[in-house]
Amino acid sequence: MSSVLNTDLTSRRFAQLINGRSVQGAGTSEIIDPGTGQVIATAPTPDTDQVHEAVEAADTAFKVWRLSPASERRAALHRIADTVEEHAEELARLLVLETGKPLAVARDMEVEWAVRWVRYFAEQELAPEVMREDADGRFERHHEPLGVVAAIIPWNFPLFQTLYKVAPAVLAGNTVVVKPAPTSPLHALFLGELLRDLVPAGVVNILGDGGEAGPALTSHPSVRLVSFTGSTAVGRHVISSAASTIKRVVLELGGNDAAIVMPDADVDAVAPEIFSWSFFYAGQICTAIKRIYVPDALYDRFAEHFARLADEAKLGHGLDEEATFGPIQNAKQFERVKEYLATAHADGKVIAGGVVDPRPGYFVPPTVVTDVDDDSVLVREETFGPVRAILRYSDLDDAVSRANDTEYGLGGSVWGTDIEAARSVAGRIESGNVWINTHVAAAPDVPFGGIKQSGVGAEFGLEGLKEFVENKIIYVPNA
Ligand code: NAP
Ligand code: MG
Repeated sequence: MSSVLNTDLTSRRFAQLINGRSVQGAGTSEIIDPGTGQVIATAPTPDTDQVHEAVEAADTAFKVWRLSPASERRAALHRIADTVEEHAEELARLLVLETGKPLAVARDMEVEWAVRWVRYFAEQELAPEVMREDADGRFERHHEPLGVVAAIIPWNFPLFQTLYKVAPAVLAGNTVVVKPAPTSPLHALFLGELLRDLVPAGVVNILGDGGEAGPALTSHPSVRLVSFTGSTAVGRHVISSAASTIKRVVLELGGNDAAIVMPDADVDAVAPEIFSWSFFYAGQICTAIKRIYVPDALYDRFAEHFARLADEAKLGHGLDEEATFGPIQNAKQFERVKEYLATAHADGKVIAGGVVDPRPGYFVPPTVVTDVDDDSVLVREETFGPVRAILRYSDLDDAVSRANDTEYGLGGSVWGTDIEAARSVAGRIESGNVWINTHVAAAPDVPFGGIKQSGVGAEFGLEGLKEFVENKIIYVPNA
């Protein structure tokens, strides 16, 4: 296997992993580095027949894998974690090149978290339990694997998202077909190369995608669970596609997270933190802070801080260690962000950023908008990009109800000095996760998920693992 470090990827042959073999695509697609706008590699793309081939391979492998001892599955996960760790630098560089994130984030966060999550699942166990026992007999609960799992992945933290789905799926005795987003398949195809000899043929299959693989997967009758991370709009398609064969679905969808700055907040302390959770990875995170509610008395000072931090941001390629701020991941999203910029100028006062950066690639500087009404698209919609509105409030209860006035319910945060007061407001935010004086604290053993239209089901933790099994109750009478 050739190293991807300092290698020209254009000559490298990426392949899909289907039934334990490296398989070229029915077609190909060109992968663009968003930090330069240049084509960096050619990736294989499957046609419907290849998608079906992968599902059928997974279905065949399931018949054996479901009966494998837990120790074998655990060992496979440990091998995967060790191998990913060994290839951390190569995986991180691929992630930088195709997702545009800074190298430090790719390596120290994405790859590191992926390994940590795989190791966590490798240690879990779903042992049978006696639910009830009386003079007549007992009820046993067994955790049965579901069958073929389709893992559908977006482009923002794709290695992490892939492995935190694959690990619990495989541990529970399922088999998997992974489909990355069409603009970020390289890390996944490389992962496929690494996994080829680590799991039995067909247990994990990794496809490319030319844009049609998703529906072919979600409509296949042998897929028993769709574990999907992506937008709420596509989540609706996944649910309807799953309906005809009553598949299970776990959906991690969009978010429009609010941060509420409490009246007692120390602006100098909280503004830089809120800034970084708003603009981290150019704001392209489901749980980025997307709306910021600031009390009247603190508003101007808070906005000044934000504008200064935005002006100090240094745009650049993810491999440029001086850069603090990378590109938008793909051309389509870049066009969407340009629309947000136009809306920002029309609906509010732009106090930092506001124009596309002229260098090659898809760069937009952090853009800060004040004096925007709640009915602006910038407030109503999930702005998946570096454009953030600072909203003014004079009454805390009113700020809470405005924060909750959204169909989304993924994350949220409350920022203040009196932790108990902040905790009380956190209890009133309608979202699956609320953080105090931070945004996004996650751990492999703590379930994560959205409420309202931000999702169905959980990932991580035992709850996340249990999404990959169903109950089977056996009643055993006493002899
Ligand atoms: P997206 O457009 O919804 O795509 C996500 C994945 O779904 C891609 O692999 C996509 O591939 C596939 N897909 C699209 N249409 C499909 C269909 N009809 N059937 C099956 N699969 C289909 O999302 P994105 O633009 O990649 O990512 C951004 C969104 O993801 C944001 O809304 C963000 O909030 C959300 N997100 C949520 C979380 C979370 O944990 N809650 C985490 C990260 C991102 P194709 O493009 O080939 O169609
Ligand atoms: Mg898409």
